[in-house]
Amino acid sequence: MRNYNKKNCRLCKGPLVSNPLIRLENVPKGVQLFPNSKQIVSDYGMSLALYRCNQCSLVQLCGEPVVYRDSETSATGFSPSMMRHRKEQAYRFVEYFNLRDKKVIEAGCGDGHFLTLLLAAGARPFGIEPSRKFAERCREQGLSVEQGEVSDSLKKSPFDAFTTLHVLEHVPDPNSFLQGIYKNLIAGGGGFIEVPSFEKILEGKRFYNLILDHLSYFTVNTLRFTLEKNNFKVLDIKRDWEGEHIIALVKKQEPGNIAPKQPRERLGELSDWVEPLKNRINNFIQDFKRVAIWGAGAEGVSLIAVTGLRGVAYVVDSAPYKQGRFTPVNHFPIVHPRTLKTDPVDAIIIAAPRYYREIIRQLKEDIKFKGTIALLKGNTLDIIARV
Ligand SMILES: [Zn+2]
Repeated sequence: MRNYNKKNCRLCKGPLVSNPLIRLENVPKGVQLFPNSKQIVSDYGMSLALYRCNQCSLVQLCGEPVVYRDSETSATGFSPSMMRHRKEQAYRFVEYFNLRDKKVIEAGCGDGHFLTLLLAAGARPFGIEPSRKFAERCREQGLSVEQGEVSDSLKKSPFDAFTTLHVLEHVPDPNSFLQGIYKNLIAGGGGFIEVPSFEKILEGKRFYNLILDHLSYFTVNTLRFTLEKNNFKVLDIKRDWEGEHIIALVKKQEPGNIAPKQPRERLGELSDWVEPLKNRINNFIQDFKRVAIWGAGAEGVSLIAVTGLRGVAYVVDSAPYKQGRFTPVNHFPIVHPRTLKTDPVDAIIIAAPRYYREIIRQLKEDIKFKGTIALLKGNTLDIIARV
């Protein structure tokens, strides 16, 4: 007989398959938590277990989300190519649903960068944001943002459309989140949703994308089910941005008009993801006198922690709030890129695959780096330059 986990699916309440798909140790408590020199004594890694719902197939973590103290929530950096991409998305979204001069709510608007783009595209944007610091930052820019969680009656409701980008994977209860949005929309209101793609994690065996910050890991099928279950008709759904993201365009429907199709997903073996890459990186580090890692983003800090890396000189990151602090779990110092000039290394591992073009440009043009450059790619390292 099959064993089921005592916990139930956060989406359909069905039983989770008791054996996790994968279990990781030494995972950072939160990928945005960078301890300072005093905090490192009380900073240690956690276990992460990924489960699949036996009923709706949604892949998820059990348990509660990472709670960030407000002071520690920090802005996400965006590459120039991502900025262009977001700008195009805002225009296409406004055009698709004819949202010129119409009210659009963004659930989880962060520092307000997408609200600004919606405004430029001709919509009347509003935001709801749990972080007080971000909400304040938005208001300082003149944006209309309410601080708090999505609720059934938001100020300035009803809205003609909504958007939510990289938020759904963080919320403990996707149904109440989507129902909250639903209740604040006009009949037939449109929506644009984006989440990370779990397909991409599977394809690249990217264990470093499994983080305690993300509670749900959507595929095209499970995201479609999630949206339909909450009475949103899915007009278009596909993978985007080199397959990294899933994007969906939806329309609010009267309850009962949609019969959501429950996905039955079969997933391959997820074991043996960590050891091959860990060995590859350790061998690479041993080949050189001094090695630095570039990238204290979610992927970099998670990779460093879970593989238990040793012998790294430091970690480079352009975000000022991370510099002078340490990576979680193994506590490598995080430094400004200019450190590569003042305290040189022989080799660099770029652990920020999405930004590697910009990083390579910086290494070559600004830093004039002389050494070997390797790029984290899926479950391996690619040596891309020997300068
Ligand atoms: Zn389920």
